[in-house]
Amino acid sequence: MSLGITALGSGSGGNSFVVHSADGNILIDAGFSRKELIRRMLEVNVDPSSIQAVLLSHEHDDHLKGCRIFCDQFKIPLYVSFETLQYLKKKKEHKLPKNICEFTTGSEIPLLGMSIWPFTVQHDAIDTVGFEISCEDKKIGFASDLGVINNLVKRHLRDCDILVLESNYDLDMLRRSDRQIHLKKRIAGINGHLNNTDAIGALSDLLTERTKVLMLVHASSECNDYELVRTLAREQLEKMQRNDIIMKVIEQNRTLETIILDKLI
Ligand SMILES: [Zn+2]
Ligand SMILES: [Zn+2]
Repeated sequence: MSLGITALGSGSGGNSFVVHSADGNILIDAGFSRKELIRRMLEVNVDPSSIQAVLLSHEHDDHLKGCRIFCDQFKIPLYVSFETLQYLKKKKEHKLPKNICEFTTGSEIPLLGMSIWPFTVQHDAIDTVGFEISCEDKKIGFASDLGVINNLVKRHLRDCDILVLESNYDLDMLRRSDRQIHLKKRIAGINGHLNNTDAIGALSDLLTERTKVLMLVHASSECNDYELVRTLAREQLEKMQRNDIIMKVIEQNRTLETIILDKLI
């Protein structure tokens, strides 16, 4: 079995994705409670005991929430960056799982036949990373919380078979929202979240001939609309004459069946 992905849900209320490889499955982030993670996995026929490790993108609760209890229950390691780990160790309210594997951002993590590269993204956490995951000739690019698509991000997310990218907010909806001005500034700043225009606009750069799947994730519940993201993405793909790409907007309360690259026609 080649690389594959299952979306368990995404948004400010929790994020978690299963990455499947021939040698086993991993989770990217575990931002739901243990019970909810298991419920969502069973809903899409993923055996929770098949998960061999959890990789943490950053310490915000919508990514961290279930990590400790899930890892401890299944006796699996949490992979966390050196800097994020130092921060979490100092914070008493963040209890860590028993089994921790520390990684260095920018250095390869070899895991279950995959080559995983955590790369720096701009976001208001200690050491937020995206992940480039390669296995044989297949590649997944993953970036769920980032304020800007800079050259480093482009380098890692370009030319992937599966691209998972944040499309967090609509600028007008954010402006019109009841959120406090400092929060609006935070979200729209370079260390905040990616808006629809920037995310969709980057697709002409990021998608290549090999791209088969596009997942747009982490849509804001107040300042975005799933249907709007879908429409914008569809229009962009049409413009690029890439209606062949499977495009999914990942919702907060909806899982998405596993997509395995080798099984796609
Ligand atoms: Zn975050
Ligand atoms: Zn988040």
